[in-house]
Amino acid sequence: MESGVYRLDQSDVVFIDPVRLLNDSYSRFRLSPSAYYSRHFPPSSTQKRNRKRKRNKPRHAPLNLNERELCAEERHQQVRPLLLNAHRKLLEASQLLRILPRIVESEAALECRERVVNQNFVELGSSWRAPFCEIALCNGVQDEVKNPQGLRSGLSEGRKLVPLFDNIISVESDDDVEAEFQNVIYVLPPKSLFLMSDLRQVRKLIAGDSAEGFNLIVIDPPWENGSARQKAMYPTLPNRHFMYLPVKELAHSDGALVVLWITNRQKLQDFVVKDLLPAWGISHATPFYWLKVKPDGSLIGDLDLFHHRPYELLLLGYVNVDFNSECMKTIKHLKESRVIISVPGAYSRKPPLGKLLEEYIPGQRPSRCIELFARELVAGWTSWGNEPLHFQDATYYLGK
Ligand code: SAM
Repeated sequence: MESGVYRLDQSDVVFIDPVRLLNDSYSRFRLSPSAYYSRHFPPSSTQKRNRKRKRNKPRHAPLNLNERELCAEERHQQVRPLLLNAHRKLLEASQLLRILPRIVESEAALECRERVVNQNFVELGSSWRAPFCEIALCNGVQDEVKNPQGLRSGLSEGRKLVPLFDNIISVESDDDVEAEFQNVIYVLPPKSLFLMSDLRQVRKLIAGDSAEGFNLIVIDPPWENGSARQKAMYPTLPNRHFMYLPVKELAHSDGALVVLWITNRQKLQDFVVKDLLPAWGISHATPFYWLKVKPDGSLIGDLDLFHHRPYELLLLGYVNVDFNSECMKTIKHLKESRVIISVPGAYSRKPPLGKLLEEYIPGQRPSRCIELFARELVAGWTSWGNEPLHFQDATYYLGK
């Protein structure tokens, strides 16, 4: 219960509490559940049905499906028993179900607190002003630009200004530190490192020596899709751009576990399996599923709704791995699909999976981990993307 990872009935199905897992990163602060879950969960379908008996039928698979849609439907039918079984296990976990509403419960005081409008790092980072933007860092933070003067005038002792964009910034401290940019305070977890840049700069994170590469590479690409909501949230990239991600070069010489989030669209899945994974050199691709539930344990939507499945897909695989090596003998190998259940956070945030996947990660401990297209920082991890400070705004956090 304390770990944030709840194994259901000795099975491979797990329920995770993202807030508890993320809070492992912080010493002086903690993420507020009300900030993480600040979204409305509509009543479950049975409750809705009781209230309004006759409604439009849910949009199950339409009759006139094209070839790709038929494949998608077939894939859904194949995975359906696995997902139903996982959900049944959650519904049988009465102790967990009892505390679930409390896990996502908001602190009353915070509920009415107004959120600060997020800084638009994406827009700023691509504007002419980007090279002039500096972030004020407290003690314990280093950046790659060595400033011989150390502190600059006008700053209180222990703070220094460093370029925010296209600059590798690392937190050396064992404690959380604060940073200030345009009058907004950000909380940076200990030993975290980030690079806020466009895709063109990602190669800066390739280690000179592959023995200093990464053992876990999590990638949540900004896939193109038609949804206007998503378009408003962040910019997307055409599929072919992702072929240039230097996954192999980022991997450790002992190999890396690669976790790739993909959407349920069949066209995208075809591209990933046929083009992207081979281009990156990924082997043993194994699908895992993230099943999304409400605080009452019910699914966030009808499992069979064709365009709005209450689950997402992540592909796990290995890169640079020698299966005969000593280090591969000590870890769990990817064989079967697994289901991870959680209550989803706001703004399409993915749950943190590092701890849960630890047993599959090749190489040294602690593992060296990186998230590509990150919107948050994690203690000990490297985060890259065009807005990795997005969820580090101090208004998401409370003092411990
Ligand atoms: N995993 C993240 C989470 O759970 O919050 C969500 C990642 S989101 C799917 C994709 C991210 O990629 C967005 O933050 C988006 O702004 C960023 N992105 C889009 N185009 C980019 C580019 N050219 N270079 C770097 N990042 C980019």
